[in-house]
Amino acid sequence: MPKQTKVLILGSGAAGLTAAIYAARANLAPLVIEGLQSGGQLTITTDVENYPGFPDGILGPDLMTRMHKQAERFGTEFIYDNAEYVDLTQRPFVVKTSEQEVRAQTLIIATGASAKLLGLESESKLMGHGVSACATCDGFFFRDKEVFVVGGGDTAIEEAMFLTRFATKVTLVHRRETFRASAIMVDRMRRNEKIHYLLNCTVEDIGDVAAGEVTWIRVKNIKTGEVSQHAADGVFIAIGHQPSTDLFKDKLELNESGYIVTNYEGSVLTKIKGVFASGDCIDHTYRQAVTAAGSGCRAALEAQWLLETEENELEESAHQPQKEEMDTSAEAAKEKQDGKSAKAQQPEPVGKSQGCC
Ligand code: NDP
Repeated sequence: MPKQTKVLILGSGAAGLTAAIYAARANLAPLVIEGLQSGGQLTITTDVENYPGFPDGILGPDLMTRMHKQAERFGTEFIYDNAEYVDLTQRPFVVKTSEQEVRAQTLIIATGASAKLLGLESESKLMGHGVSACATCDGFFFRDKEVFVVGGGDTAIEEAMFLTRFATKVTLVHRRETFRASAIMVDRMRRNEKIHYLLNCTVEDIGDVAAGEVTWIRVKNIKTGEVSQHAADGVFIAIGHQPSTDLFKDKLELNESGYIVTNYEGSVLTKIKGVFASGDCIDHTYRQAVTAAGSGCRAALEAQWLLETEENELEESAHQPQKEEMDTSAEAAKEKQDGKSAKAQQPEPVGKSQGCC
């Protein structure tokens, strides 16, 4: 039997869970299809120091556990699975997971984004065997080892700093000389003596695939053309993220980078009435936990308002005949009082009224 819901939320990151908290507190009993990375990207980060309300910072996974509990507390139901199919052509919208079909009056898409990879064959072959896209998940395995981090944004720097808790040496490989990351993060990194740099360098290859583990990394200096190979125990890829929107290709408008296009910058409305999009799957600019949460809140309010408007309209149209009935009976009472029927009040046909016969 398909499940029915007024509000279906896809994704359980900051956007999805905030939407769930708001929808649940509006008595809409939302259903969340969590996705296989329950809690989203914050579950693979360490200290979050910029989420308001936590002056001493909070670990990403702890923040997400709290949001999950908060959504549960107000009656959110969760399905731990991936959405595999959506039909947005009519309402209720149909969403299928491997085991469940859900029919939803409104849909909030909060599917987030995932880590981008370099695209090397060795990278995918050694993923989980020394190559990782998540220092928080795998850093522990690199105690007293030498690791490399690829990228020059905040994620790369955060991962490099985190890895210095375990590794003896962390080398940052970045394709430029200047960093995309915020100045405060760069300053912090520069003060960390365990971090070394290979700037203006791209990764040529990672080995040893035959041995099934990472033992070296080969990089090319794009300014000098020099290729060098370095002993390595682990390689962390931290080069940004890809929105998780494949499911919506040809069903919703996506931009050239795959982000869902909303009605205007900052909006959570899509072209399909009842479908809202929020969080990192629409946001290629800010991509913060707090902006994702704000966007999830807006999506839930929009869904709530739409449902309320539709329910009011339905109620009004349901009351319409009753109103007519009431009018008729009031009229009938008046007529009774006047001692004549409504029919009698109608103008007589012309011929009759003239009384010619
Ligand atoms: P970014 O897009 O900011 O940075 C990606 C980095 O990877 C860039 O330095 C880019 O190089 C490099 N890169 C991209 N593709 C390749 C490639 N194929 N080969 C080599 N290098 C590549 O992504 P982040 O994940 O770092 O950050 C995303 C957003 O999240 C940002 O807004 C960031 O500020 C925020 N964030 C904030 C944190 C915090 O405040 N604690 C923590 C983590 C992220 P180039 O610079 O040359 O383009």
